Amino acid sequence: MPGIVIVGAGQAGGNAAVAAREAGYEGPITLIGAEEHLPYERPPLSKEALLAPTLPPPKLLFSPEKLTQRGIATMPGVRVEAIRAAAREAVLADGRALAWEKLLIATGGRPRALAVPGGEHALLLRTYEDAAAIRALLVAGTRVACIGAGVIGLEIASSARARGCEVTVIEAADGVMGRVLSAPLAAFMRERHEAAGVQLRLGAVVHALEPGRVICGGFAVAADVLIAGIGIVRDTALAESAGIVCAGAVPVDATTATSVPGIFAAGDIAAFVHPLFGRQMVLETWRHAQNHGIAAGRAMAGTPAPYDDVPWFWTDQLGLNLQVAGLPREGVRTIWRGELGAASFTAFHLDEAGRLIGAEGVGAAREIRAAQALIKARQPVDAALLADPSVAAQKLATATR
Ligand SMILES: Cc1cc2nc3c(=O)[nH]c(=O)nc-3n(C[C@H](O)[C@H](O)[C@H](O)COP(=O)(O)OP(=O)(O)OC[C@H]3O[C@@H](n4cnc5c(N)ncnc54)[C@H](O)[C@@H]3O)c2cc1C
Repeated sequence: MPGIVIVGAGQAGGNAAVAAREAGYEGPITLIGAEEHLPYERPPLSKEALLAPTLPPPKLLFSPEKLTQRGIATMPGVRVEAIRAAAREAVLADGRALAWEKLLIATGGRPRALAVPGGEHALLLRTYEDAAAIRALLVAGTRVACIGAGVIGLEIASSARARGCEVTVIEAADGVMGRVLSAPLAAFMRERHEAAGVQLRLGAVVHALEPGRVICGGFAVAADVLIAGIGIVRDTALAESAGIVCAGAVPVDATTATSVPGIFAAGDIAAFVHPLFGRQMVLETWRHAQNHGIAAGRAMAGTPAPYDDVPWFWTDQLGLNLQVAGLPREGVRTIWRGELGAASFTAFHLDEAGRLIGAEGVGAAREIRAAQALIKARQPVDAALLADPSVAAQKLATATR
């Protein structure tokens, strides 16, 4: 009997498999993944995996026993090459065809390679094996050049610095994490990296890489280890083989269904219209991949529901825990709770109607949790209450006017 076939055994695919079973799906569930591992967490790869005294094993999402108990068959180390929508088959790399009733595309993305001469000299970080290879090179005194001052590049820089490496970060934009942080928070993170001894070369365009050298316009950076963290590329060829029209991502509706009946997509690979913001988005974050995967699992089990999770991510750098909810860069007014640079502070960003649209906090997990409830509420907020540090963080979740 054809059942659910999930292509991509990562954060979204793994959660989808378990959620489909827990939502009452009774047919076979098969989880196919190109990597040799059961689904595991990627966030530790730029943090603990680079920092711990010895390389920790992959942090599995679910134990093998749990997957077996749920009747989920796994096929690690297997790549799906094409999807035949009319025949409802997935074609595997060895030519075998696997029949499906429902199919999920949860293939994530791969790190974008540097498209310059010698770009292949830069290491990339996505998998456990990538982390193991980078870790082995982070020896005290080694000169490391990170290309890209996004979240991944700066996490690697932070870990490399903690391991005693000499670190230079090269970034084309004139700030760090500019895609996701408001200007004050971006400036704060920049200062922290500089204070930690990270050399930041901002506004620098990389022209070429050579072993031991990054050549930029007007200068070169000598480094023993070159690492690029310049975003991901989504491979939409699989979805296109099924007849889904893609523009850099696989479009899905509010319940994770694609335009082709029986085929769903979730996680980093999928684009969806977010009901809170009314526009199409792709999110590349851990919790989105988890919750979007769960939504897809439930939809495939026959219990679809609109997905409206508030965007949220965290990053750990230089001993700081920074959390971001919503779209901070879109606020027109900022309310501060605690002073920028204090051990704990939050920036609440309001839209023109006085509603919370985004929030950023350092050492402020409870405030950011409350912020997510406020972003979802779509009501004007009580700015005085948000700014008052004597009000318990938990009470902020209902700080609407
Ligand atoms: C180093 C690192 C650190 C991160 N840290 C954070 C963090 O601190 N906070 C945060 O919010 N997010 C973080 N993220 C992002 C988060 O981990 C991702 O958003 C999430 O893993 C995406 O899940 P996914 O299931 O969509 O894709 P993936 O986890 O990429 O899984 C997709 C899987 O599909 C497989 N696959 C692809 N094509 C095929 C095919 N044709 N056939 C079979 N299998 C295939 C791939 O091999 C892969 O295993 C981090 C990511 C990385 C790489």
